[in-house]
Amino acid sequence: MNIDGVTTGIVLDHIEAGKSMEIYELLKLDRLDCSVAIIQNADSTKYGKKDIIKIDEDIPLDFAALGYLDNKITVNRVHNHELVEKLHLELPHELVDIIACNNPRCITSVEPSIVQKFKLVNPDTKEYHCIYCDSEYHR
Ligand SMILES: [Zn+2]
Repeated sequence: MNIDGVTTGIVLDHIEAGKSMEIYELLKLDRLDCSVAIIQNADSTKYGKKDIIKIDEDIPLDFAALGYLDNKITVNRVHNHELVEKLHLELPHELVDIIACNNPRCITSVEPSIVQKFKLVNPDTKEYHCIYCDSEYHR
């Protein structure tokens, strides 16, 4: 794992090639003051091509959101040029305030103040259902 260029911060490795911008936006990395480097189409021994995001600060990350988007991502925490933690993500059982229900008749569509919640019903197909109306989520 190449952690060059990061003194203290986080390296998101093994991002599916082409998905780094989606993750950048989902994690709202554009709002950070520190430097963020996105490396696209890096060679990966495991998956052929991959994206990498290097964040020059140890920020709290939304692991549920990350795991939902791509649970093959590895999260590397770096302190003083040394890798101190390596985390593997899991597909979250519940998604809170990450995706929104598509059903126009759902209570969450009528009442925007209600928190969006989805539960995992099938880990193999990554199928999530709204806890209020049981609709399947479609991207
Ligand atoms: Zn719903």
